[in-house]
Amino acid sequence: MDKQTDFVLRTMEERDVRFVRLWFTDVLGFLKSVAIAPAELEGALSEGIGFDGSAIQGFARVYESDMVAHPDPSTFQMLPWRGAAGGTARLFCDIGLPDGSASFADPRGVLKRTMKKAADMGFTFYVHPEIEFYLFKRPIVPGVEPTPVDTSGYFDHTTDTAGTEFRRTAISMLEQMGISVEFSHHEGGPGQQEIDLRYADALTMADNIMTFRVVVKEVAVMQDLFASFMPKPLADQPGSGMHSHVSLFEGDTNAFYDASGEYNLSRTGRQFVAGLLHHAAELSAVLNPWVNSYKRLAAGGEAPAYITWGQNNRSAMVRIPMFKPSKASSARIEIRSLDSSVNPYLAYALILAAGLSGIENEMELPDPAEDDVWSLTEKQREALGIKPLPNSLDAAVRAMENSQLVADTLGEHVYDFVLRNKRAEWAEYSRQVTPLELSKQLPAL
Ligand code: GLN
Ligand code: MG
Ligand code: MG
Ligand code: MG
Repeated sequence: MDKQTDFVLRTMEERDVRFVRLWFTDVLGFLKSVAIAPAELEGALSEGIGFDGSAIQGFARVYESDMVAHPDPSTFQMLPWRGAAGGTARLFCDIGLPDGSASFADPRGVLKRTMKKAADMGFTFYVHPEIEFYLFKRPIVPGVEPTPVDTSGYFDHTTDTAGTEFRRTAISMLEQMGISVEFSHHEGGPGQQEIDLRYADALTMADNIMTFRVVVKEVAVMQDLFASFMPKPLADQPGSGMHSHVSLFEGDTNAFYDASGEYNLSRTGRQFVAGLLHHAAELSAVLNPWVNSYKRLAAGGEAPAYITWGQNNRSAMVRIPMFKPSKASSARIEIRSLDSSVNPYLAYALILAAGLSGIENEMELPDPAEDDVWSLTEKQREALGIKPLPNSLDAAVRAMENSQLVADTLGEHVYDFVLRNKRAEWAEYSRQVTPLELSKQLPAL
């Protein structure tokens, strides 16, 4: 028995754990969970737990449905909202097939594979996300615009706001689960919050983001609120982005840092950004995965709609944050297009793959956009070579259909599933007759 397994089994006894939850994520980014009795865990750790994969979104076709969940002992944590004694533990799982091979449909596997590729090139991929979400009053009525819990705005601190109390409870639970929080504040929209996680390698971070969503939803229920990671829930307020700061390390050295480079960005860093810009349109259907995601991008403000980069340019898709030169380790780039609804495993796998392709192909970075891209005319943007991001899920799917990089990174099965699923979502959306049409066009036509 390895050390980690031994530690897990000992902790189970010491803490008198009564339930064990095995977690994994479907292709669309929804968390799945199966509870097992504590006595089953030792067997699960050595052999896995079989389940019917055909019932999970994107996992398998009915005729090849047997799958095996292998809990990863390094992800063992107690669920704080279940209490200390006689509590519940959880572990994330890798998904395999009965013959012992890895499942082709497991998002965690997709990210692992891509990180292995980075490791073969000498790199570890680190991420820190800024996660935005809204807090609404209950009840949530389907089809009706929700009511935010407060009327505060960016960085507001008022003593009677629900958000302050909410963030305090959520953050202490995250910390109890080993997830460090760096910043938190009220965001721009009424009821909108932001919590930023301390950087970790991308696999740990993708697990942390899935845990984060559960914690935030649980705390909301405890406080009689509803938390939503929907990209753009309110028509007249900002959407919820998940800006992600990323870097590559070679051992202890930040490969993005070069004291003599422009903005202290190394050649590797520039090539990584160039790869991201080059493939940006192809990644959209995963980084902005829902019909609703494109309402956020269309609204302007601080959500990017154009494929640009710049320093301290908050309308750019990629921003190079300033940092103290004494802190070479914090050299990084910030990707601002992805939103809070993404499947974090697939999103980080694609960001990494696009960046690595920039390095492998020694791509050149175009000029930075230091202006507000929104205020330029279409002609000016064209003259500067600034291309738009796909402006709808339909356009994003079309860009992804032609992407060898996305097909190779996701693997054929996940790639086909995402394309099929997103085409169906677009078709359903296109058939709708919206309240806007009924209120404006019906009376006029
Ligand atoms: N909410 C904005 C977005 O959708 C970001 C605003 C901010 O972080 N300053 O990306
Ligand atoms: Mg922020
Ligand atoms: Mg923010
Ligand atoms: Mg940001």
